[in-house]
Amino acid sequence: MNERKPIFYINEQKCRNTYSCVRVCPVNAIEVRAQKEHPTIIESRCIGCGLCFIDCSPRAVEFRDSRDEVKRLLSSERKTAALVSPSIAPEFVDITDYRKFVGMLRALGFDYVHEDSFGVDLIAAEYADLVSKAEGKYYITANCPPIVKLIEKYHPELVPNLAPLVSPMIATAMVVKELYGEDVATIFIGPCIDNKDEAHLYRGGKLVDSVLTFIELRQLFDEFEIQERTVKMSEFDPPYGNWGALYPLPAGIVQAGGIKRDFFTSNVITAAGKEEVFEALNDFGQYIDTIHHHFNLFFCHGCMLGPGMERHSERFRRRALVRLYAEKRVGLLDKAQWQKDMERWSKLDFSRSFNPNDQRIPEPPAEAINEVLKIIGKDNPDEELNCGACGYQSCREFASTVAKGLAVPEMCHTFNLRNKQEYIETLRQTNRKLAETKKALKDSQELAMREKEMAQSASDMMHNMLEKLPTGVVIVDNNLKILHSNQSFINIIGEDAKSIADIIPGLVGADLKTLMPFNIYNMFTFVLKEDEPVVSKDFRFEDNMLNISIFPIRKNKICGAIIRDLFSPEVQGEEVTNRVSEVIEKNLEMVQKIGFLLGEGASETEQMLNSIIESYKKRRVTR
Ligand code: SF4
Ligand code: SF4
Repeated sequence: MNERKPIFYINEQKCRNTYSCVRVCPVNAIEVRAQKEHPTIIESRCIGCGLCFIDCSPRAVEFRDSRDEVKRLLSSERKTAALVSPSIAPEFVDITDYRKFVGMLRALGFDYVHEDSFGVDLIAAEYADLVSKAEGKYYITANCPPIVKLIEKYHPELVPNLAPLVSPMIATAMVVKELYGEDVATIFIGPCIDNKDEAHLYRGGKLVDSVLTFIELRQLFDEFEIQERTVKMSEFDPPYGNWGALYPLPAGIVQAGGIKRDFFTSNVITAAGKEEVFEALNDFGQYIDTIHHHFNLFFCHGCMLGPGMERHSERFRRRALVRLYAEKRVGLLDKAQWQKDMERWSKLDFSRSFNPNDQRIPEPPAEAINEVLKIIGKDNPDEELNCGACGYQSCREFASTVAKGLAVPEMCHTFNLRNKQEYIETLRQTNRKLAETKKALKDSQELAMREKEMAQSASDMMHNMLEKLPTGVVIVDNNLKILHSNQSFINIIGEDAKSIADIIPGLVGADLKTLMPFNIYNMFTFVLKEDEPVVSKDFRFEDNMLNISIFPIRKNKICGAIIRDLFSPEVQGEEVTNRVSEVIEKNLEMVQKIGFLLGEGASETEQMLNSIIESYKKRRVTR
């Protein structure tokens, strides 16, 4: 048998973290850890009820698939026997006659097809015998595997009250193995997924070789294209069952065993479905000395609604279908033969034992629970809404599960809502800041644009002014390539420069070394290197005398020069004036000393020179 996978597991590819499995699990067997992306089923805590499988809408909860195992058995040398649960009646409503269903199983490759209701009859008789000899001890039926696991794991103190009898599936397999020999492969087909685990408990998984749910059987029918219309009718193989066909009903086994069921004389209480079962176990544990009844428990609302069936609704229609099927089967039954079969097979040993496996987690200390309550925003009891949205009956129970490490606060609806509101507020603030930043960006872009326009117009203005200056201006880079020059500079340099300027306006990119002699451009090199200005130096250039001032603009990278042609009429007069002023400035002290020594004569010299300057200035103005 396939032992590798746990009975139920979560397919992480399909899981959408809705946590519906966590909420529905009645024993907190599914943990949600902050560090894990998806919930995980803790196999040791799981009771195999299948509620998570039924409840998960993205179908992320999966169960151990036995189809390949069954296909291998069907194609092997071994004879194969199908053991079929009477729950076929409420499941295969699309097949018109149960004999067609048997024919389809034979078409799939089964050599024998047996009904499990005979096993029910055998076990029902065992129960009737057990309760008749109970002598004040009260039993809980052990036919439903999740009920057995629930008691072994969460009510171990009730293990001694579990009826020590195998289930009908096991009883039927024992009969079939006796009939055909140990080598026949027995495959149980039914509504219960946890039968797959139950099968492992007997003879190392060799009593029931495999278990197919109705879901898997339908898939095999589809795979091998087996349909009702393609097969002949076929009858089950004997021994046939009697009222065991009622087994899918919660009280079916009680009825099959002929145990009294009326309120006043019955000594068996039947409880089915999660809520009833939990209440029943609680009451059994506490008040059995008052109740004085045996408990017949099924985790589902009877096996007519098992998790391995295709659908899980229409409870009352299902009841009717079970009843009709049982009446039909019982109507066809040879009672005398059944009696003989019962006598023969009831000699088998149907006893079993149990394995208490306490999975209860001690209740966390009150401080730890209060701490969780505080985290989920239930600071005082008024805020404990007990809305049940988390899947727990009260906020306190949920907080306790979180404190046990089996749940996370995010499963609480109000906690999430509060977090969501905080998140929305944060989002709102972020959006506001974003809008402010956007506006600031727009403003600064507009400012930058305005500044750029201003800089451009300043640059244009400067360019125009430079162009109009009578003084030559040139700006060069550290390779002495011209970055800018004005018309006066071009005029000073002469015809060669004018020809170049016709092609390259402003001589941009021209090499200063090709336009000026070494002694001049070397001065530019000096300024660039030393980052020192050279002020007002006179150089002979061709037939002219140039006065040049060079100054650094960007250290070691760019420098500019102001060049005046001292022989040009515009500069000449101004230059004489400047030079005389300079002479007077420089010699003023000396002149004053001489004046002191020579008397008024020296100051007359100064006056004379000053008058030359003034008259020159006037001449320039009137010209
Ligand atoms: S099968 Fe049942 S017990 Fe196991 S995890 Fe699912 S809901 Fe819980
Ligand atoms: S009630 Fe039946 S189908 Fe449901 S878990 Fe129990 S045995 Fe399985």
